[in-house]
Amino acid sequence: MFSDLFINTCIIVSLIFLVSRFFNQYHPISPDSPLGVKLVLSVLCGVLGIVLMKFSIHVNPTTIVDLRHIGIILIAAYCGFFPSVIAGLIVAIGRLLLLDVTHNAMEASMVMFILGMGCGILFNFTTRWSVLQRLILMNTFCMTAISFLIVHMLNHDIEFNLSTFCYKILPIHWFFSFVAMYFSYYTMEYIRARNSIFKKLEKDSATDFLTSLNNQRQFETLFNAYMFKAKQQQKNLTLLLLDIDHFKKINDRYGHEAGDAVLKEIGVILQKATRLGDIVSRNGGEEFSIILPDQTKSQAQNIAERIRKTMEEHYFLLPTGLSIQITVSIGIATYPETCETKDLFKKADESLYKAKSLGRNLVVVQDSL
Ligand code: GH3
Ligand code: MG
Ligand code: MG
Repeated sequence: MFSDLFINTCIIVSLIFLVSRFFNQYHPISPDSPLGVKLVLSVLCGVLGIVLMKFSIHVNPTTIVDLRHIGIILIAAYCGFFPSVIAGLIVAIGRLLLLDVTHNAMEASMVMFILGMGCGILFNFTTRWSVLQRLILMNTFCMTAISFLIVHMLNHDIEFNLSTFCYKILPIHWFFSFVAMYFSYYTMEYIRARNSIFKKLEKDSATDFLTSLNNQRQFETLFNAYMFKAKQQQKNLTLLLLDIDHFKKINDRYGHEAGDAVLKEIGVILQKATRLGDIVSRNGGEEFSIILPDQTKSQAQNIAERIRKTMEEHYFLLPTGLSIQITVSIGIATYPETCETKDLFKKADESLYKAKSLGRNLVVVQDSL
């Protein structure tokens, strides 16, 4: 008895680990999960119930005890009414198909479906509760119903000592039901928290904290990938490097905070000025870059000129309430029109340097090969 319920618990926890590891990765499992995800999870929870029946304990020849309801309470507590009903239905059908269709099996099957409905209804009344509170309520509800069902079934068996069941088997059944419920909950929440921390770290390590643009590291990763793709598919690839003119003076005159406000606003302007597939990054200090896939030299020149003009005409609002104007210099290099992919950065940087030396507030395109 003890070892069978222990095996039930281990099966539940290991399956819950795999399911939550896979599904929480894309979208936390919740009532708002996509319909397809909820459907797949309901089927999996139903199947979990069926697998657990394979490891049931025979209390008498026609009555078995296991933890098949755990899948139902988990899906009900995490996903809501319909998934719970589907899981209940699958466990109910599984009970009839897997074992002999006896009178007891019919009753047990019916109860599983009712438990699916019941947990779904309980979810609707407990939407403001925490998942753990909901699980405790649903588990208590299921175990009460299952205990009454088993006692009712065993009542017909005159050879069976009912008090042995009530004093010895039932408490152990309740104990393992709550242990399995809590470990499943703990595993789900543990993986959910780890996934969200991992996602945040992944995002932070790729994002510039000030402007929320890509940072230098992410720029390098994406730039290498775009260069590889452009060369392989023989497509245009333009790199645009942008540097604020005399930015040091802004810091010196208005303070570092004012400089930060300008950098932030430049980030917003650059994102507005580019298409969805363009890659805008802050490459450090007051230097920005834009990767323009599929853009020719002259198309890129038009975009850069538009950006330069927007910056020149824009009034940047400082934290003090003062508005100032700035200018930027932009260097451009395009594959395959002006250079090879491996030289794109160097040539764009040379163009930028040229724009600075020619007097700033200019767009310079790298000369053709
Ligand atoms: P140029 O026209 O030749 O580019 O001159 P510049 O003053 O813009 O260039 P320089 O390289 O001499 O100075 C860059 C300045 O950018 C110096 C530094 O204080 C400032 N800076 C770099 N990072 C930040 C930042 O995160 N916030 C602020 N406020 N300033 C920064
Ligand atoms: Mg500068
Ligand atoms: Mg600079």
